[in-house]
Amino acid sequence: MTEEAIEKENAEIAKAYKRLLKVSYQTLTATDKKLIREAFEVAVDAHKEQRRKSGEAYIFHPIAVATIVASEIGLDATSIAAALLHDVVEDNPDYTISDIERLFGATIARIVDGLTKISSLNKDADVSTQAENFRKMLLTLNDDVRVIIIKIADRLHNMQTMDAMRPDKQEKIASETLYIYAPLAHRIGLYNIKTELEDLGLKYTEPEVYNDIFNKIQESKEEQDAYINTFSKVIVDSLDKEGLDYEIKGRPKSIYSIRRKMVKQGVSFDEVYDKFAVRIIYKSDLANEKFFSWKIYSIVTDHFTPNPKRLRDWISSPKSTGYEALHITVMGPKGRWVEVQIRSERMNEIAEKGYAAHYKYKQGNTEDALDTWIDKLQEALETNETNAVDFVEQFKLNLYSKEIYVFSPKGDLKSLPKGATPIDFAFSVHTQVGMKTRGAKVNGKLVPLSHELQSGDQVEILTSENAKPNTNWLDYATTSRARSKIKSSLKDEKKGIALDGKEILRRKLKQLKISLDEKSINEMVTHFKLKTSLDLFYRVGIGTIDNKMLKEYAASRSNMFMSYIKNRIRKPTVAPDLDKDEITAKYDLLVFGKEEEKLDYKLSACCNPIPGDKVFGFLTINEGIKVHKKNCPNALSLQSNYAYRIIQAKWIDSSQQEFSALINLSGIDNLGLVNNITQVISANMHVNMKSISFQSDDGIFSGKINVVVTNKNMLKKLMDNLKKINGIDKVTRV
Ligand code: MN
Repeated sequence: MTEEAIEKENAEIAKAYKRLLKVSYQTLTATDKKLIREAFEVAVDAHKEQRRKSGEAYIFHPIAVATIVASEIGLDATSIAAALLHDVVEDNPDYTISDIERLFGATIARIVDGLTKISSLNKDADVSTQAENFRKMLLTLNDDVRVIIIKIADRLHNMQTMDAMRPDKQEKIASETLYIYAPLAHRIGLYNIKTELEDLGLKYTEPEVYNDIFNKIQESKEEQDAYINTFSKVIVDSLDKEGLDYEIKGRPKSIYSIRRKMVKQGVSFDEVYDKFAVRIIYKSDLANEKFFSWKIYSIVTDHFTPNPKRLRDWISSPKSTGYEALHITVMGPKGRWVEVQIRSERMNEIAEKGYAAHYKYKQGNTEDALDTWIDKLQEALETNETNAVDFVEQFKLNLYSKEIYVFSPKGDLKSLPKGATPIDFAFSVHTQVGMKTRGAKVNGKLVPLSHELQSGDQVEILTSENAKPNTNWLDYATTSRARSKIKSSLKDEKKGIALDGKEILRRKLKQLKISLDEKSINEMVTHFKLKTSLDLFYRVGIGTIDNKMLKEYAASRSNMFMSYIKNRIRKPTVAPDLDKDEITAKYDLLVFGKEEEKLDYKLSACCNPIPGDKVFGFLTINEGIKVHKKNCPNALSLQSNYAYRIIQAKWIDSSQQEFSALINLSGIDNLGLVNNITQVISANMHVNMKSISFQSDDGIFSGKINVVVTNKNMLKKLMDNLKKINGIDKVTRV
């Protein structure tokens, strides 16, 4: 570079730095400015040899990230300094975290450390590693939420300046942005940044689609402005008469959200009717805010008919991100539905700045939704039983689903994702309440645990000391918190059974003169086609592997040569993973519908489902039931066009399939007989009683019990125990 070019670049750097200070949302004190200056100087020195792919000096990147942090997100001087330093330790070996700590103190060092750790996560990862990285990233929330926020700003600037990169890299970074960063920004309440990340994500993953929509929006801009003008003219007089101080703006929907609507509703650009919203932002002191919002509501609806189904009052119950506003949809000029968003200046600032504005306006005694959210997230993260992909998927589901609001019996308000059930509510109250849930009442009426809650419901959880989670709960629970708690409880229970099963197995093998050691365990795991030793112990524990099967194993063992030959001929099996601390499912049976029926089916060729995949059945005209994967490319159109021909389907472990059995009892009635019977049933683990009825006629007793068990051994054991009860004469299965 010529001296002249260097001088010019230095002037540009100085200009960018000055702008950073000028656009800060927070007012900076002299001490703040000194801190930022020092961080800037260290960053300039650390990156002095570096250039970006585009050729410009690297320091422009940290300045840009700091500018986003200072102005768009509105964080404090500490965060601005940390943003300037975010790549220093990663890019220059001359600087260590302890240097940063010595120069800038513990807080900034901790944030920079967190950011350095995230950057060093494997960048060329597939989805599951990405998910794991994402989870690790969320774990840094533990240290400081500012780490995540600065990381989002970093990603935004990288997305804004990606043109010089290789197309395959652009696409990879863009899809990661859509997968992880946009949902995170949404959850933290950084709506503007989320929108920009999504639009840029679409630009690099589907450039043609992006450009097409982009151009069409430009073309229709004039028409839109005219429409908003017509709309405003109708209401300004009434608003002015009330002496309100306000501004009416048109707000175009983002390219990404228009795209989503086109795909979801299967319509063209022109057919998406709500391509923009009208925003009314008014001045108000805190005391009159709510009053004014409803005043404006009433003026708007005096002139335009509101859609009764589309009123959202986020002023009375703010979203968990802190978002407040009144949204209505009205029939506007030319007979078109328009969304109208009514916000005070304060609410608008919160909507745009999220986190920062929230803290600025935070009142001493109000519970902070963001803190609550971070606590919840933390809790979900600490239960590391769920695998990372599941976790991210669940997390994203929770992010994007609309929220519902329900009340506790005392009238406390809880927000839950749409589709939540009493189980989710119970776990959101307290883990111990969730674990002991026996039933639920919604608005005073008993409901099944699978009941979908609606906004405004009052939910009461009935608990009992004997209640505990069962696998069905996983079909009803939608929040990641409830699901991870249920999964880990089921896992603990299974491990307990496996522990008992191991002792039973030791005893039974002894009778067959075989000792339980590594060799025999290994043989049995292979013989029964299992994966882990815990699988073996667990199946002995629940009785799926019985005496007869063990005798067969013993016999095969006595003829080692034959079994050696047999094993050679048999398809090679995967080597068992004996020490793995896991009970695996065998997924060998496909069942349909709520009743889990076995039906004839064919696997579809378009997506080739394999056991364990998430699937559904589709009733074809000539070929019976065809099974597709839930993410099959054809699934969406099948589900939307032929919903009535879809049957639920899932893979299960046939050794654990539940079936119901009806037992008849008869005998001589005596005091406490019924009590004894119910005690025997509830003492038998894993037996689920569906219905029970007794009758007594002149001292002769008869009863019918409907039970659900996972295998015949269990049923036999139960019937044997019932026979032992004093007074019972006959026990038969119908
Ligand atoms: Mn960076």
